[in-house]
Amino acid sequence: MKNCIFCKITKKEIPSEIYYEDEHALAFLDIDPVNVGHTLVIPKKHFETIDQMDKVELDKLSEAILKISKGIMNIADGLNVMQNNKEIAGQAVSHVHFHLIPRYKDDGYKFNWKRDDKVTKEENKEFLNKMESFLK
Ligand code: 5GP
Ligand code: ZN
Repeated sequence: MKNCIFCKITKKEIPSEIYYEDEHALAFLDIDPVNVGHTLVIPKKHFETIDQMDKVELDKLSEAILKISKGIMNIADGLNVMQNNKEIAGQAVSHVHFHLIPRYKDDGYKFNWKRDDKVTKEENKEFLNKMESFLK
């Protein structure tokens, strides 16, 4: 993909701190890390969002995610794995990437998972009905 920053990183057209590479995936440091070692793991092939990938592609990527996760768990005290799809979900770069964020005792970093109002039983039911139809 011509104007994709992560495709450019894959092709080494722009500099980055790549510290792991295999046939299908790359791991490199995030340019604006939330913690020391904040890593992005990406497929070399361009997919905008995770649902565009097939099982084989995701399997290949998951090998790299697992390898880097084991490394981080060895170095740090914990690990958050995050993956954003679409702008509404916080995706700024439209090339699939997994954030692997090492966590350190007392690092003070907090995700904001809270919402003020509650999800209702009706809303859950509607979601589950739609999902049931999709999964059929
Ligand atoms: P998103 O919000 O799409 O889930 O995350 C995109 C991430 O990519 C951000 O954390 C951002 O700091 C990182 N990022 C954006 N541009 C670059 C870049 O050119 N190089 C590197 N290493 N990271 C980048
Ligand atoms: Zn790309």
